[in-house]
Amino acid sequence: MTDRALSDRIDALLPQTQCARCGYDGCKPYAEAVAAGAADINQCPPGGAATIFALAQLLDMAPKPLNPENGLEMEIAAIAVIDETRCIGCFKCVLACPVDAIVGAAKQMHTVIAAECSGCELCIPPCPVNCIVMAPRPAELPIPAAMAAPWRQRHVARKARLNREQQARAAARRRSAPSLQDKAGAIDIAAAIARSRARRNNPDRP
Ligand code: SF4
Ligand code: SF4
Ligand code: SF4
Repeated sequence: MTDRALSDRIDALLPQTQCARCGYDGCKPYAEAVAAGAADINQCPPGGAATIFALAQLLDMAPKPLNPENGLEMEIAAIAVIDETRCIGCFKCVLACPVDAIVGAAKQMHTVIAAECSGCELCIPPCPVNCIVMAPRPAELPIPAAMAAPWRQRHVARKARLNREQQARAAARRRSAPSLQDKAGAIDIAAAIARSRARRNNPDRP
């Protein structure tokens, strides 16, 4: 089994909330760290004992208790809800959501797409007016295990989009930055103006 195949198999056992409680920027980076032997199997509070057991079986290791430093074992039983009457449209929750489950434009009211929310709680700390709360996951939504694949897909798509946007910004910066040739031309023009002024002030000067 290659390391890549192993990290994919580990990732398949993780809950995919993308909550970062394990200390990694999502489930896949944690899976890669476990595959590389750089992270222990007991770091995921949403996965809890069941995930630790599954990882232990896959990696032929003994299960161990959840690392309490990452928080207590937690059921994925809540979704975020925005009090739209208090939302000031600052967009900070959208920037924080790892699965793009919040919609809204700058200076406009925002709302959570309940069916997409992984309950990661990452949108709560950035909200400057504390208008996001966690509420029980509605019974009509699919069970969290059924959402693991869509959450993974949304997280991957979000990362790809952020990457594209970053590259576009870098390209725009490169386009707007004056080239060395432009700078040399500007220096030549400045020098010509200075020479012309000097001749006007001193007509005898060559
Ligand atoms: S669910 Fe959260 S804590 Fe568990 S692996 Fe994914 S990002 Fe890490
Ligand atoms: S809406 Fe909030 S709780 Fe839900 S997935 Fe996005 S950041 Fe996490
Ligand atoms: S962080 Fe809070 S105030 Fe800002 S857009 Fe989101 S919900 Fe509205």
